Formats: sequence, structure tokens, C-alpha cells
Amino acid sequence: MNQFLNNKAFLELNENQKLAVKTLNGPLLVLSGAGTGKTRVLTARLANLIYSRITNPWNILAVTFTNKAAREMKFRLENLIGQPANSVFLGTFHSIAAKILRENAELVGLNSNYTIITPDDQVRLLKQIMVDANIDIKKFTPKSMSNLIASWKDRAYRPKDVSISNNINFANGKGIDIYKMYQQRLITLNSVDFGDLLLFNLTIFRDHPDILERYYTKLSYFLVDEYQDTNTIQYMWLKILASKTENICCVGDDDQSIYGWRGAEVGNILRFEKDYPSAKVIKLEENYRSTGRILEAANSIILNNKERLGKNLKTSSDLGEKIALFSVWDGMEEAKKTSNEIENLYSNGFRYDQMAVLVRAGHQTRYFEERFIEIGIPYKVIGAKFYERQEIRDALAYLRVVQQPNDDLALERIINVPKRGLGASTINMIHTHAKKNKISYFLASQELLMTDELRPNVKKVLQNLINQFLNWNRQNKDISHTDLALKILDESGYIAYWQNENSIEGEGRLENLKELVNAMSGFENLAGFLEHISLVMDGDNEAEAGEVSLMTLHAAKGLEFEVVFLPGWEEGIFPSQRSIDETGLAGLEEERRLAYVGITRAKKRLFVTFAANRQVHGLWQGSIPSRFISELPKNHLIEYIEGNLGGDAFSYNQIDFGVSHDKGAYGPGFFRAKQTGIKAIDLYKKPTVGHSDLVNNNNFNNGQRVFHQKFGMGHVISSDGDKLNINFDKAGEKKVVSSFIKIIE
Ligand code: ATP
Ligand code: MG
Repeated sequence: MNQFLNNKAFLELNENQKLAVKTLNGPLLVLSGAGTGKTRVLTARLANLIYSRITNPWNILAVTFTNKAAREMKFRLENLIGQPANSVFLGTFHSIAAKILRENAELVGLNSNYTIITPDDQVRLLKQIMVDANIDIKKFTPKSMSNLIASWKDRAYRPKDVSISNNINFANGKGIDIYKMYQQRLITLNSVDFGDLLLFNLTIFRDHPDILERYYTKLSYFLVDEYQDTNTIQYMWLKILASKTENICCVGDDDQSIYGWRGAEVGNILRFEKDYPSAKVIKLEENYRSTGRILEAANSIILNNKERLGKNLKTSSDLGEKIALFSVWDGMEEAKKTSNEIENLYSNGFRYDQMAVLVRAGHQTRYFEERFIEIGIPYKVIGAKFYERQEIRDALAYLRVVQQPNDDLALERIINVPKRGLGASTINMIHTHAKKNKISYFLASQELLMTDELRPNVKKVLQNLINQFLNWNRQNKDISHTDLALKILDESGYIAYWQNENSIEGEGRLENLKELVNAMSGFENLAGFLEHISLVMDGDNEAEAGEVSLMTLHAAKGLEFEVVFLPGWEEGIFPSQRSIDETGLAGLEEERRLAYVGITRAKKRLFVTFAANRQVHGLWQGSIPSRFISELPKNHLIEYIEGNLGGDAFSYNQIDFGVSHDKGAYGPGFFRAKQTGIKAIDLYKKPTVGHSDLVNNNNFNNGQRVFHQKFGMGHVISSDGDKLNINFDKAGEKKVVSSFIKIIE
């Protein structure tokens, strides 16, 4: 028996998990709900493969959904095996495909030091091409063209594979031509976009069987997390690579497929058994993450979806606290209420980094950010990327030109930053010359400098800049990349530029530039660092310890937090109107899966909020509670309605559904609003109407969480006037009088 099977990490697993960890050969699918230990099983399997010596670490390929998840898996794996796991091919589809492409770049007309361009460079490049092709870019925006190209690439379509029918509406049928020109332009720039990484991999595998054979020999075990969110090209890529050994283990959950809008095909997971007839399927049932009530909420929401295999989450842990539902006046109140709760929980021993606010759309974070800054809650926005700040992008552009002088987009970005007198007319001349002669901007500049096309003073400045780049490029081999970066930022005048700014903002930017050089020191050389940057710019960033995480529901996939806040549960926001408009019922079901993902991130406490008013394009609008709110199980819910009963504008009236849910007609604001068709906003004008039946602070509801001076925390079992029967957590069942009891909200 190999050592791993005696390891504590293995022995702690349940029987089905153990089976999944032991079944190393042949195709295996683990299809189970949230928090059932799929990722844990995958990590243990990796450890088992390495321990058992059934294969070498460098023969294993493991795919995670985000770079962060990859880092985490590597960390856990290293803990399990007690040695570095660098040789395992572990990363996102993009990062692994980038490596494979680098090893074979010349086969598709690239150099191995190719650049991965970022989404905004992609749009800029498309804009140039579309303007040159006389396309009305107001009507057909470069952004929508870039989305279209991405969706073709997600389906593995090269320009020659796109049929007219896929493109009929875009730019009067010119979409394919633009795509073609765009690809040609990328090649001359020695660049690729994210979609190209896998697409070129596939081209190489298909056109060069000898190379594919090399990877067959190299890679013999495959592990894939979040398999439900693979798109067509990822699916094809995996299928080809794994076809030789079929030692492929995929884990996923059809209820958590949330990337349909980006081309993910939940069908991939459902047809696993068809793809691999010898596949074993293991189901995990027990959820180890969340309390009973949180799971009930998740189950009760997802039950409303038609398109699903149908599984229920189970747990042997306690019911836990009720789910809190806050109805507030507006976004500002929502942020206030949330931050108050965060402070509350913090003083009760929860750490900031155990809490997360998960929003439907990125822009929703603004109110929270402002509020957190105001009252000093440390927080981190995951996704608002450090690397996307202006000064960082400028600095990266310098580094990119040094690494690869024909990176036109980078050169164009900083040619006149800081301002050095190379204005639009000079850039235009360079652009025209480069286009006519099909050469890079860098080369075009050098050629122009040999003529008298440029005014003498312009010529001097440009000559100086080009010389500097040539000089830095030479030094790239001799001095460390961090020293080089400092030198470039200094000699280019970029640091002085922000120093002269003499503002707090300028100081912050200088700090960021320092941080950039810090980040570089973790890499062997400039090329390695730049590759890393392109990959992290793809989406996720790591939250530092001690900070509340603020991120989208999409970014929260696979993560877990003690406390989760889900704001903005209003029709139009969540479910998102756009998603419903674009894809109807399928869109709605995807939104519901997103709600399921959000809820199941929480281990102990869950807060849902609804704001009665939202500002849309500067105008206030009343909102309607999300239909998902009415799908939450009322007996596991406590609703708090903002009102002015106590004369305090921010007091909350508490409605415990455990008691009141059967009083349909007297139901709380939301549900009544829904039933009667009155917008919730109307209810706020008369916040006391009908509430006296429901809110009586002298009445104790069964199940109510209370605190007693002597006996501590407990739950109300029954009440008779002011006498209560309470089951205390530590002291057991006791009879007490209500005057010594404090209600815990
Ligand atoms: P998701 O679908 O959200 O990605 P998952 O199925 O990947 O979830 P994990 O993240 O692997 O679930 O596990 C959820 C939590 O349960 C983790 O904290 C994990 O450590 C814990 N866990 C998993 N299996 C066990 C077990 N057998 N005993 C104790 N804890 C476990
Ligand atoms: Mg997982």
C-alpha cells in the first residue's frame, strides 16, 4: 500500500471521496454539488499520483479555473507531499496552453517570445483595422467585434472556419475579413490574444502529429476542476490530449455552470460517459462547507431550475444561524448596513478575510468601497486589477518594447508619455510608413530617422528615444530585470513625470510603480514576468490577509468564506435583465445557478439585501425584489425591514418567518409587494402599516436566538407569557423569564 493511503489527509476523507482518490487509471467523473469536496479530492488525487509513483510529476496535467485556484492547489499539494510541486503542469487552460505554444511558436508563425495582448489592446487594434476598412465603428463597435472574435475562438473557429451564417449581421458581412486582418496583424506584431492560445495549440496538434505524439508521451494523467464551465475549445483540447491514455479525471457540478454567456457548455460534463464509455462516475453527497440553513437555501433556490440533473445537498452539521434578509432604502444604506454587520461580526471574532461581499455586476462595488474607506474597513476588490492602473500599464508598455521592439501597441502607448513632443502628426507618419512597408513602428521610426521627413527637433527626440530602447534592450541581457526596470523608469523620465505631478495621486502612483518592481523580483527574467502579467490580467487577483473581499459572483467560484453578503437582490440587477433579455429562460436559469454559487460560498453566515431604490443613469427608480428572494425557504430566514418605528431612521424591524410565514396576507414587505403588485418603494412611505401584527419585541419566537447573563447563548423552544423554555448551547434546557434575556439579531 502506498504511503499516501496511510496519510491523515486520505484517512479523513469519506468513502466515496477515498474511492475517487484511489481510482487513478481510466476516465473518472466526479459530479457533485457545491462544497462536497471535489477540489479537495482532486488535490488528494494529485498527491496520491505522486506518492504512489504511478507516474512522474511532470507527466501530470492539472487544470483549475483561475490562477488563484492553481496557486492554492499547488500550495496544498506541496503540503501533502512535503516537497515543491513545480514540475506538475498545473494552471489554467490559458497558462498551460501559453507554455505549450511557447514551445512550438514557430510552427504557427510566431517567435517564442510572443506577447499576449490584453483585452483593451485587442480593442484598440481592432479599432485601427476597422477604421482602415471604412467600417462605421459607432454602429459596429470594436468591442463587439472583439466579443464576436472571442466567441468564434471559444468554438475553435479560425477565420477559414467561420461560415457566413455565423457572421451574417456583423458589419454587413465584413466580420470575417476583419477577423482575418486582425489575425494577420497579430502575427506581424508577434502577438496573440487569449483566445489564440488554445486555438494555436489545436492547430499545432492537428497539423503536426509528431508534436502531438511528443505530448502524448509527456502527459499521461489529466485532472480538471470546474469541468461544467469548459467551453468547446477547452473540451476539444482536453479530449485530444487525453485520448491516448484516457487517464482523465474531471470534477464539476452542473448546478454551478455560470459561464454559458462566455461559451461554456454544460453539455460537456453531461456527455462525459458517452465520450469515455469506460468511465466511472462517483457522486459525493455530503457538504462539508455550510450550515444546514445555508444548504436549505441553496437547495430551495436551485429547485426552481428545470435544466438540471437534480441533486440535493446534505450535511450533518448544525442548522446554524438564520439567513438574514435586509431590506434597505437605497445603495448607500445597503453599504452602511453591510459595513455595520461586518464590524459587528469582526468584534465577535470573525476576521475580515473570512468575509466577502459578492455582487452581480462589477460596478456594484463602488458604494461598498466608498463606505469601507470612510469607516476604515480593510478591503480588497478582486478583479479591479493592480495591473490595469494607468501607471502600471505605462510601465509595462516600456518593458514590453524593451523585450520586443516590434510591439507596436506598447510603443504607441508610451511614445509620448511623458510628453516629449512626439505628437499625433509624428505618430501618424510612423503609422503610415509602417503600414505601407508592412514593418513595425519601431523599424518605421528608425527608417524615418534616416530621412528628413521629420522636423529637426522632433527627429532629435525620437532618435533619443529609439537609442534609449536599443540601449535598454542590450542591457536586458546584462543586468537584473528589476534593476533594468528601475533604470528604464528613471531614464525615460517617467518617474520624474509623476514626481512633478506633486499630488497625493502622484505619490500613490509612485508607490504602485515600486510595487511593480517588487512583483518582478519574483520572476527569473523579464520575459517570464511579462508572460505572468498577461495571464493575471485575465481575471483574478489574490486577496491579501485581513481584508474583506469584494468581488463578483463569477469570480467567487470555488471559494469559501465564513460570512457572505449578497447585495442587490432586485429584479433587473439579479437576475440580470440583460441575461434574461438575451437568452430568456436559459439566461434566467444561469442567473439562478449564480445565486446557488453565491449562497454556497458561505460557511456560517449569509446575508441577502434588497434596496427599494436605485439610481439608474442619474435617476432614482423604485425596485422590485428579486424573484430569488421569494424562492428562499422562509423558515430559515429572518427579514429586517428598515423603518422609522423607533424614530431612528436606521432601525430595523425584524420579521422571523419561522413564526410568521403562514400569515400569508400579513407577509413582510417584499412578499406582499410581490403579491399585490405594489412596488416595494410604496411600502416605505408607510413603513408601519400592518407591521404591528408582526413585530412585537415582547414576543419571543420559537427558534429565536437569545443570550442569558448566566446561561449564555441558546434557542427559544417555547414561551408562555414572559416565561420561556430555552435550550442553551452549553447549559441545556432551562426555564427563564424574559426580562433576563437579550434577543440576538
Ligand atoms: P465547490 O463546488 O464550491 O467548488 P467543492 O466540491 O470543490 O466545492 P471543496 O472546496 O473541495 O468542495 O470542499 C469544501 C469544504 O469542505 C472545504 O473546506 C474542504 O476542506 C471541506 N471538506 C471536504 N471534504 C471533507 C471531509 N471529508 N472532511 C472534512 N472536511 C471536508
Ligand atoms: Mg471546488
